[in-house]
Amino acid sequence: MTAPITQDVLTIPRKLPEGGKTNLVGLTRDGLRAALIAAGTPEKQAKMRLGQVWQWVYHWGVRDFALMTNLAKDYRALLAENFVIEIPEVVTRQISEDGTRKYLVRIAGGHEVEVVYIPETDRGTLCISSQVGCTLTCSFCHTGTQKLVRNLTAAEIVGQVMLARDDLDEWPVPGALKEEVRLISNVVLMGMGEPLYNFENVRDAMNIVMDGEGIALGRRRITLSTSGVVPEIARTATEIGCQLAVSFHATTDEVRDVLVPINKRWNIATLLEALKAYPGLSNSERITFEYVMLDGVNDTKEDAYRLVKLLEGIPAKVNLIPFNEWPGAPYKRSSGNRIHTFADIIYKAGYASPIRTPRGEDIMAACGQLKSATERERKSKARIEAEAGLS
Ligand code: SAH
Ligand code: SF4
Repeated sequence: MTAPITQDVLTIPRKLPEGGKTNLVGLTRDGLRAALIAAGTPEKQAKMRLGQVWQWVYHWGVRDFALMTNLAKDYRALLAENFVIEIPEVVTRQISEDGTRKYLVRIAGGHEVEVVYIPETDRGTLCISSQVGCTLTCSFCHTGTQKLVRNLTAAEIVGQVMLARDDLDEWPVPGALKEEVRLISNVVLMGMGEPLYNFENVRDAMNIVMDGEGIALGRRRITLSTSGVVPEIARTATEIGCQLAVSFHATTDEVRDVLVPINKRWNIATLLEALKAYPGLSNSERITFEYVMLDGVNDTKEDAYRLVKLLEGIPAKVNLIPFNEWPGAPYKRSSGNRIHTFADIIYKAGYASPIRTPRGEDIMAACGQLKSATERERKSKARIEAEAGLS
């Protein structure tokens, strides 16, 4: 039987409609070089120009060609005639009691995605989205209930990192001492969407974020979370090289089929095989198994023992996520006792088993609660109308 899982979502072209100018953001180094040449940059100069423009955009965070002072005036004019430097627009920013920031971001076509910044004592994590909504329908995930889906472009993905750096004022200042502490020290692809269903754009965006001449985040500081798109897993290591997290969430196919329906396409055994073969897997680079704790569904001692058995032979750590409830969610969060008992069993079997502290709950910014505001409004409007007998 084939599960009803589709991948036929749209990606908008890079060429912008107005004036036919190309957005420089999101182009790979090769792509940017080709674009500069197509716009009239002599081939002999292309390498140098590429380096200069790249640094302005990704190291200094400059959006205006006029500020690229080491370029001749007429070259700046040529760039401005042909290109734009455009990132998504922040519509609203909410700041939680605990310092977590949630940005509602508008992208082309009027769609919206959410981006979350989580400051901690030893790090700052930016949680970014790869799609508007998600074609998958994990039964505990708010994003999965959103109808509207489209792939984000590479520009829209790297743009999320850039807009957060704008907001946190994290671009370097010429002449200032090099920043030792980074506000955004880690990026996780754990926002809206399934990153491996938008592989090329996620890959290009992450390669830009990791590029040493720009934002320069190390590959170990980027984590991609997948629900288990088996055919794309190996490419994550070879073409991106970032850390991998897997939304595991259950220890039997029966339960995982319900929680993570992609399991009907690639079941637990198939997924584990792909993970065992993950290139570069070692004790220092473990796969994170995410496991959401749902009261009475997947949280027994037997589940914990089964999980330990399944992990055999895989350098792994287990991240336990207390379920974040959302209005109308069909599950409850497991009790603290249950979660700790579960964590202990995993830990005693030799695996790190941290319990994720829910962050930004007051602004609905926690894992799995992201959903665009327009979708929420539509929903609540429909609900209000239904209650008032209007529909
Ligand atoms: N689509 C990808 C990445 C985004 S979700 C994936 O599924 O892996 C990031 C993590 O949050 C996943 O492990 C996801 O299963 C989990 N999650 C989703 N909804 C949640 C909720 N309501 N409470 C806790 N975790 C949730
Ligand atoms: Fe999509 Fe991940 Fe949510 Fe599942 S958990 S519906 S894959 S965003």
